[in-house]
Parts: sequence; C-alpha cells; structure tokens
Amino acid sequence: MTAATQTQNTELEAVEAAVASVCDPEYPDVSIRDLGLVESVEFAKQGVLVGLIPTFSGCPALAMIAADVRHAVEALPRVSTCEVVWLTSPVWSTSRITPAAKDQLASYTVVLRAKDGGLRCPVCGSNSVSDQSEAGPTRCRSVAWCESCRNVVEVMR
Ligand SMILES: [Zn+2]
Repeated sequence: MTAATQTQNTELEAVEAAVASVCDPEYPDVSIRDLGLVESVEFAKQGVLVGLIPTFSGCPALAMIAADVRHAVEALPRVSTCEVVWLTSPVWSTSRITPAAKDQLASYTVVLRAKDGGLRCPVCGSNSVSDQSEAGPTRCRSVAWCESCRNVVEVMR
C-alpha cells in the first residue's frame, strides 16, 4: 500500500464516521448507518459522494437527513463538497437495521413487523398487538395497539 492510498483510506474512514454520526431526525440517537440507510461513501472528482437508501419515499425526514449528511461531511477539513444521492436500489427493508438499532427503536415504542407478519409489543413483550390504523404519524409507520399493556405502538413498515 502506498502512502497516498493510506491517506485516502484514513480520509474515507473519517468521512464514513461523519456520515455515521448523522441520526434520523425522528430518532435522535439512532444513526442512519444503523438504520441501514448508508449504501456507499466514495471520493468522486467533485467531492464526496454519499449514496443513501430512502426508507420510504416521500418521508419529509429524508431532506433533513441529506442536509445533515452534507453538513457533517463538509465540516471535515479535507472535504470541499459533499453530494448526497438517494439510490433506488437496493431497496431498503427492515432487515438492514442493525440489532442494536432495533433495541434503540424499541425504546421509542417503534416495532418492526416480524417475517410472519406478527407483532410483539416493545413495552411488555406481549404478542397481543393489533393493527389500529393504516395512517400513522408519518407515512413510514402505522399505529398499533397493545391489548396487554395498553400502549400505542408504532409499526415501521
Ligand atoms: Zn404491551
């Protein structure tokens, strides 16, 4: 490995760390990397190019996330500009969320639907969660109701 390559790798790591420092505006302590949004980080001719995967199109949080990523990366001393592109493939799915982030989401009473379609209450662990409404607080989530502890649970789609 040449010295130049090594410098570039260190810079790439710095950029990746900056991208990972960005959190979803709706879950201020969950990194967008842990949510599986970050697909690619690379140096292009014009600056840094970050490829993100939208969790669902039309979510207003996406514009905020893109702006936060640009700010975080452009704050690095060696980066002049950063461009964020929203990729259409691969398609985001809840399987891209890291186990640690799933735990963090549970503290927001946000739950992911299991592969068999079942729901488990993030508050009490009961399986008696029933879908309440297709219209959740955002298009990303729907609202369900735990019959056991009577908490409202948000289901990430
Ligand atoms: Zn419950």
